[in-house]
Amino acid sequence: MKIILIGPPGSGKGSQARLIQKNFNIPHISTGNIFRIMMNEETSLGKEIFKYMSEAKLVPDDLVIKVMKEYLNREEFKNNFLLDGFPRTLEQAEQLENIVDIDIVILLDTHLKIVQKRVLTRMICPYCGDVYNTVSYSKVTCNSCGATLKARKDDNAAIIKERFKEYELLTKPLIKYYKDKNKLKTIDGDQPIEVIFDTIKKMLVSDL
Ligand code: AMP
Repeated sequence: MKIILIGPPGSGKGSQARLIQKNFNIPHISTGNIFRIMMNEETSLGKEIFKYMSEAKLVPDDLVIKVMKEYLNREEFKNNFLLDGFPRTLEQAEQLENIVDIDIVILLDTHLKIVQKRVLTRMICPYCGDVYNTVSYSKVTCNSCGATLKARKDDNAAIIKERFKEYELLTKPLIKYYKDKNKLKTIDGDQPIEVIFDTIKKMLVSDL
């Protein structure tokens, strides 16, 4: 199954993606994680991407498409994948249609107040990209790979407000885009992680 997860920053896309990957064996592709790894490796594309990410700006569509085209053509993603953080603009959604057919788009509809609370307690593994929340996870190392967790540079109250605005302006139009294609399923993203995942499980089982 080919799935897209949409929602504002901090809506829990990463957490749900990992649960889906674990329970349904569907590989998780996060553009944010791919870009962070590329930046750390300091490839020429990584250096270009750094210019945008360091200012919490969206990476230009042509660069994003270039990276994603290469990923989505890989054998391991031939039958199943779960996109988290892509597409983020209408242009990206239209370009994605030329690469692959999507089965289902899940929207985590989350309010700014909830998002602000979540990102201020979010920690990320810089090595494998796993995401934790200090409210529910008290260790300082990653449970999957043992690396020391860090806060994301773009997880602060001012930046998150800007990223939320950007979501409203550029990503929200995707809701109508996928609704018109009859692919959109909406979930109340303000609910606890387990409740959201329960709903997703039911959706995916009925679609399999
Ligand atoms: P995320 O981890 O999904 O919150 O993404 C972190 C950052 O990566 C964003 O603030 C953007 O700078 C960049 N990014 C990730 N995905 C995309 C995308 N689809 N289009 C443009 N920029 C992206």
